[in-house]
Amino acid sequence: MTTRLEGRPVAEAVDKASRAALAAVGPGTSPPSLVSVHRGVDSPFRFYLRRQGKAAAAIGITFRDIALDPGDGQEELTATLRSLDRDPGVHAVLVEHPLPAPFDFYRAVDELRPEKDVDGVSPRNLGRLVGQHPVHIPAVAAAAFRIAQHYRRPVAGEAVAVVGRSPTVGLPLATILASPPPGGNAAVTVLHSKSGDLTERLRGATTIFSCVGRPGLLNRTNVPEGAHVVDVGISSVPDPDRPGAQLAVGDADLRALDGWAGSLTPVPGGVGPVTVAELMAATVGSWRSLVRGEGRT
Ligand code: NAP
Repeated sequence: MTTRLEGRPVAEAVDKASRAALAAVGPGTSPPSLVSVHRGVDSPFRFYLRRQGKAAAAIGITFRDIALDPGDGQEELTATLRSLDRDPGVHAVLVEHPLPAPFDFYRAVDELRPEKDVDGVSPRNLGRLVGQHPVHIPAVAAAAFRIAQHYRRPVAGEAVAVVGRSPTVGLPLATILASPPPGGNAAVTVLHSKSGDLTERLRGATTIFSCVGRPGLLNRTNVPEGAHVVDVGISSVPDPDRPGAQLAVGDADLRALDGWAGSLTPVPGGVGPVTVAELMAATVGSWRSLVRGEGRT
């Protein structure tokens, strides 16, 4: 039998801790403020912005978004981030990515001090993660790891595979999983488009974290029977039941793996909601460290 590891209860537990951290402070301090910078109101990020705004309001975080003008380039993005970094009323900044060429995403986010780079994707924050003194961890990587912990899926000492090696998702997740506690202490294999036959490479893996964005990539041919699958990938495919509409799907073929995998996170409803909750928790953490002079929640 395959257990569905739903993200909602995990997100609720993270949100509960964020609300408690805010309530503990009491009145007299301005609330945490999160700003999301993106490349325009027609961008595909509108869905994420709505979700972030809703989640922020539910916790007591002030949220606003800044859309870059269509003609804006690196210089304007840098100026926007510098100004947000200086603004004492802003505690957390998110730059929606990927940014199209010729934007240099990493150069831009490095304008933010590590506390304000709430998604932990700047070179300084990624370096601190590798150095085992993180300020913020990429929210999606934190979310995937938290789901495994929440549902007590063992990773310590286990053969764990991370499929995908991007600097914002796969590699930070692999780093967390391989790090000593509070990391996962796992024996991690990182796979990518050039690592050869997936079936061969996944043999013996007890948990697979898939961070690719390719529907149907994981199925009965390559997932070992009984393995746990945490599906980070999100892709849009045509909805067979609603002509013209799109459907969000993960990397795992849920139907094929049902009754084969030990457990699965669904898409939608798995890693996604937890990622948003992690961002909000990180925002509260930034606020406490910048305004209250405390550590992360
Ligand atoms: P990305 O930059 O495109 O990276 C994809 C990775 O997958 C690359 O490392 C690539 O290898 C690897 N890959 C491609 N085809 C492969 C194959 N056939 N076998 C093995 N590996 C393969 O994407 P990303 O930004 O890391 O995002 C990954 C996925 O996570 C996307 O679907 C994205 O939408 C999703 N995501 C989800 C959340 C959430 O909240 N759930 C948040 C962020 C992102 P190479 O390095 O060799 O090219």
